[in-house]
Amino acid sequence: MGKRYRVGILGATGTVGQRFVQLLEGHPQLEVTALAASDRSAGKPYAEACAWKLPGSIPESVRGIVVQPIEPPLDCDFVFSSLPSSVARETEEAFARAGYPVISNSSSYRMDEDVPLLIPEINHDHIGLLDVQKANRGFTKGFIVTNPNCAVISFAPPLAALHQKFGVEAVILTTFQAISGAGYPGVASLDIVDNVVPYIAGEEPKVETEAQKILGKLTDGVIVKADFPVSAQCFRVNVVDGHMVSLRVNLREKATLEDVVDAMRSFPSLDLHSSPQNFIEVTDEPSRPQTRLDRDNGNGMTITVGRVFPDNIFDYRFVALSHNTVRGAAGCAVLNAELLISKGII
Ligand code: NAP
Repeated sequence: MGKRYRVGILGATGTVGQRFVQLLEGHPQLEVTALAASDRSAGKPYAEACAWKLPGSIPESVRGIVVQPIEPPLDCDFVFSSLPSSVARETEEAFARAGYPVISNSSSYRMDEDVPLLIPEINHDHIGLLDVQKANRGFTKGFIVTNPNCAVISFAPPLAALHQKFGVEAVILTTFQAISGAGYPGVASLDIVDNVVPYIAGEEPKVETEAQKILGKLTDGVIVKADFPVSAQCFRVNVVDGHMVSLRVNLREKATLEDVVDAMRSFPSLDLHSSPQNFIEVTDEPSRPQTRLDRDNGNGMTITVGRVFPDNIFDYRFVALSHNTVRGAAGCAVLNAELLISKGII
């Protein structure tokens, strides 16, 4: 059996924190040894501090771990962070400075020029930025890597497949985002039951900018962003988990419908423990993907694409779906950790 790594979770009692705990139960390389959250939770055993909202019960292995404040030191080799952005920036830097690799879900560092914004299947080479980051910030052993906004993860993979083969010229998109994307307790039930809300605070600027960094090229220690505009409208809809995105895309080179579907289907997955068999699954079913039926594809790690057609105004249109707390948050972060371990960086 290979080396095992001791893991801390910052924001362990929250929506994403609970998903980390669930995904890490029984992980062959990673073992949860430290949990941290706000003053409300610190000092209590996890089972008492955490209002568990996932199916099944809290794993036995973490029930008795006493929740710590979000300050170093913690008894672990590296930390996952699922803190609100209000506290993430300062806290993640403190951990990185104290020598801990920080694998973050928060938006605080995603667009910093020396911080990798990773979807491992697409841009694992961006971990080359860590040398620049360490030099810029005077970090020794510690560093920060991030994963994208949970809606961006739904559509960056099919765009990556198209950009690699044909070049993406312009994108217009609309998101249909789950309630759990707002954390717990999130959107009040009286605001979301029987309703669609055409506003998610701060979301559209993230959705319009992160994919260009992910699809950018690392050249001489700098990411040259992909050069296409994205116009986004973000909606909160009445589903618990799963972010769906409807896109229209112009391509730089001509491509047939078959070429477009083939580019997505053939985009490779990786060979890491949490990698799904299919990174992008393209369905021909006219009524799919559907949020409730397809969000768990590939254990929540597959991006499901459907309704791929030529468009009357743009070149192509399609719908993409992913599980926002798995592929869109904790699952992508766990995959980032597996990638960094496989490269000897953790
Ligand atoms: P959440 O359910 O509200 O959980 C927040 C967590 O942070 C809890 O553990 C909470 O601890 C802790 N916390 C809150 N304020 C704190 C403070 N002042 N000091 C220390 N700890 C504090 O939120 P979430 O949905 O898990 O989101 C966490 C982060 O992940 C956010 O940055 C979010 O944008 C990002 N993210 C979320 C999703 C998603 O689908 N939900 C997807 C991608 C990224 P207590 O329980 O003790 O209050």
